[in-house]
Amino acid sequence: MVLNASYEPLKIVSWQKAIILWFQGKVEILEHHNAFANSVTQKFQLPSIIRLKSYVRIRNQNVVRFCRENIYKRDRYTCQYCDSIFGSKELTLDHVLPVSKGGQKSWTNIVTACRDCNQKKGNKTPREAEMPLIAKPAEPRWIQKVDVSISTTMAPDSWRVYLTEDEAV
Ligand SMILES: [Zn+2]
Repeated sequence: MVLNASYEPLKIVSWQKAIILWFQGKVEILEHHNAFANSVTQKFQLPSIIRLKSYVRIRNQNVVRFCRENIYKRDRYTCQYCDSIFGSKELTLDHVLPVSKGGQKSWTNIVTACRDCNQKKGNKTPREAEMPLIAKPAEPRWIQKVDVSISTTMAPDSWRVYLTEDEAV
């Protein structure tokens, strides 16, 4: 995992790339994996966390990209009608105010819904369908700094201190 000079997580790279960056003097290694790689002349302990020596400015840092996966993340993979948690494949996006009634594709009008609820709600508003939302949808304020979703079972323990709860999903 690559951290910015400010210790914010930026992205995940292969250990080969991490070692190249280190050879180039661009990063410092903060943590190692308990694993080694051998070259002809040297044995390397694989880096787990590296930090850039110079700060990289991230564009659109405060804007969360409006996309399916981020809507699921905002809603914590929970159907906003029946309050049950599902995997991405079982989830759909629902227009709270249906498109046919002028509903927009926006953070405040799109919510996560399971297939059953989406079908049941159909072309109605939550009030018409008698299916109240469990939470009012809003634009998320958290920043998605890591562009790879990290499963909590996959992420090494040493990474967790650098990840916020929203990133370690
Ligand atoms: Zn549901």
